[in-house]
Amino acid sequence: VRHYNSAFGSSTPTSAFAGKKGSDGNYTVTLIPGDGIGPEIAQSVKEIFAAAKAPIKWEEVDVTPILKDGKTVIPEDAVTSIKKNTVALKGPLATPIGKGHVSLNLTLRRTFSLFANVRPCVSIQGYKTAYDNVNTVLIRENTEGEYSGIEHEIVDGVVQSIKLITREASERVARYAFHYASENGRNKVTAVHKANIMKMSDGMFLTACRAVAKEYPNIAYDEDLLDRVCLRIATDPTPFADRVMVMPNLYGDILSDLSAGLIGGLGLTPSGNIGRDASIFEAVHGSAPDIEGKGLANPTALLLSSLMMLRHMGLYELADKIEKAALSTIAEGKAITRDLGGKAGTREYTDAILAKL
Ligand code: NAD
Repeated sequence: VRHYNSAFGSSTPTSAFAGKKGSDGNYTVTLIPGDGIGPEIAQSVKEIFAAAKAPIKWEEVDVTPILKDGKTVIPEDAVTSIKKNTVALKGPLATPIGKGHVSLNLTLRRTFSLFANVRPCVSIQGYKTAYDNVNTVLIRENTEGEYSGIEHEIVDGVVQSIKLITREASERVARYAFHYASENGRNKVTAVHKANIMKMSDGMFLTACRAVAKEYPNIAYDEDLLDRVCLRIATDPTPFADRVMVMPNLYGDILSDLSAGLIGGLGLTPSGNIGRDASIFEAVHGSAPDIEGKGLANPTALLLSSLMMLRHMGLYELADKIEKAALSTIAEGKAITRDLGGKAGTREYTDAILAKL
């Protein structure tokens, strides 16, 4: 049984991609500071890790795309670093709007087969929202579904967009969801679907979930329709605190934002992208260009992502220690950032956490 007492968890089905300890006892982790407020919040995480004496050496890489053979690609160094270290912490990357630009987030997802996107949403004491007991974990299939990018205009005025569901990807994400539940003290997995309408595609997703459920007799399994879950979770999120929800890509994208809204939004929501070859942890929010360079960014979401990363690597006690310092700082309410209704900047908030370590 793993040591575990936080909702900001992770789990690693194999140790192969859970970080590698060097001969000096430190783990090297790739750090992508990212765009906009990324470098400011990454700096805050670095200072907090240093104060907590985390055995982490950061290998900072730049993922600004370069042109190669007419295509924009991630610099080889960044890919090599993530492949080598198998664990990365990533700041937000701005996605330019318009044609001809690759989405770097999508490229990273494809390059490293990041098949499961884990998004916990937990009420933070000291930041009042409509509910004070939200504690949901949602796991989204991250590689296919409506986001496969296969679209055609069949004839003028008629566009077809393919939703791709495979048994392999469905079983892979379902297995991760059950594994996560069993390692993180959650006793149920709920598959969220629309198989009443999409009988074949979502039907196959459910068949895969049911097959995997048999491998986990100690974890309960049920199924619920996406629209019903939206209604239920917005009406009362309490019953969802016992479980992990697993679902195809698009549903997870939308439902995770609904859950994030329940706890007060973007400054507080971390995520993990779990992959076959590597795992990348990041805040759910973007590069926040409106507050870039102003010292106002809230680093909590990236910090909580880094704690998911530590738990992914098995560094539970260290994660608990940092989590306690950060969450108690918010609960005390003396140094909280503006997005949470306080007056502190990134510096004052970070200093308040550092003082507790
Ligand atoms: P955003 O999340 O960057 O910002 C939305 C609002 O939330 C802004 O008012 C911003 O100031 C605020 N906000 C976000 N994070 C905050 C934080 N940590 N502290 C305080 N306030 C915070 O969304 P957007 O403006 O729609 O997107 C900006 C850019 O980020 C776009 O280029 C978008 O493509 C990109 N983006 C990247 C990722 C990612 O890398 N994973 C995710 C979402 C958006």
